[in-house]
Amino acid sequence: MKTILVTGGLGYIGSHTVVELINSGYEPIIVDNLSNTSIDVLNRIEQISHKKCVFYQIDVCDKVALSSVFEKHIIDSIIHFAAFKAVGESVEQPLKYYQNNIGGLITLLEVMQEKGIKNIVFSSSCTVYGEPDSSPVNELSPIKKASSPYGNTKQIGEEILTDCGFLNCVALRYFNPIGAHSTALIGELPLGVPNNLMPYITQTAIGIREQLTVFGNDYNTPDGTCIRDYIHVVDLANAHVKALKFIETHPDNLFDVFNIGTGEGYTVLDIVNMFEKENNITLKYKIGPKRAGDVEKVWADNSKAKTQLQWQANHTLVDMVKSAWKWQLALQESK
Ligand code: UDP
Repeated sequence: MKTILVTGGLGYIGSHTVVELINSGYEPIIVDNLSNTSIDVLNRIEQISHKKCVFYQIDVCDKVALSSVFEKHIIDSIIHFAAFKAVGESVEQPLKYYQNNIGGLITLLEVMQEKGIKNIVFSSSCTVYGEPDSSPVNELSPIKKASSPYGNTKQIGEEILTDCGFLNCVALRYFNPIGAHSTALIGELPLGVPNNLMPYITQTAIGIREQLTVFGNDYNTPDGTCIRDYIHVVDLANAHVKALKFIETHPDNLFDVFNIGTGEGYTVLDIVNMFEKENNITLKYKIGPKRAGDVEKVWADNSKAKTQLQWQANHTLVDMVKSAWKWQLALQESK
């Protein structure tokens, strides 16, 4: 059984990935500093998978602590999620983002090099494409200047990984993950006021927020609101399993990158309407000003992931909006 170190393994995408790793016969070792999640997620992963998980509360910037994990376990590959991800906060506190996202990556890579481990899957983002000249974007589309320090940490991260010739690395460029596990035991746990669309919608629907503000309706799109490629978090989690298998079967790969999106673009109002219709809810929302730094439209050309990773998205937008609401209801009940 292959052992996979999952940094940030109790976060939103990390927790769903740990479940899919166990389903696929891998042994995950979870490292998380709990800065943006709860220890409760560990119990919930164990409930879903009927398996005890190895967990270390460690910050990936702490080299001594991180090294000790490699002494206790024979690690085959690493999936590196641990990073800060709030775009707005990264503008306010850029050094916090460079320190954690770049510092954490470098520390991890130093330990990997010292221990002779080369396999890594890196969490990247479609934010590296900035405002693309056209969509869908493929992996050869130009990398535009990042619109935030957060986005820049993903660009720099990819560059660092490209330069590290000792690695066998796959970077996955995530589009917009939404939704939750079908058991409603794990999902997105935003602390404070959510920045992202789906948690804002579900919190408004349940009454935690008064109303959703749709950021701008005069974009050059069919209904004037921005277009994104929303992907079910479980499909995204499965892309990591496929990436590991790719690495296993391409041992001489140095660095490769894949878009992980459904290939379909939806507007903000499409998502609102679908959420209302499928969950039989009327959502309070208003149109507000544009949000600074927002890209007008972006969706994925996912053909490279389909042909080379043998990955495909199996969940529909209906699954996404329904599972997101089921998760919000379950969260409410567990309080
Ligand atoms: N959005 C919105 N209201 C919100 C949050 C997001 O209208 O309260 C819009 C945002 O302008 C973008 C889309 O929803 O067009 C997705 O935003 P999100 O922050 O979820 O992801 P991003 O694409 O910015 O990474």
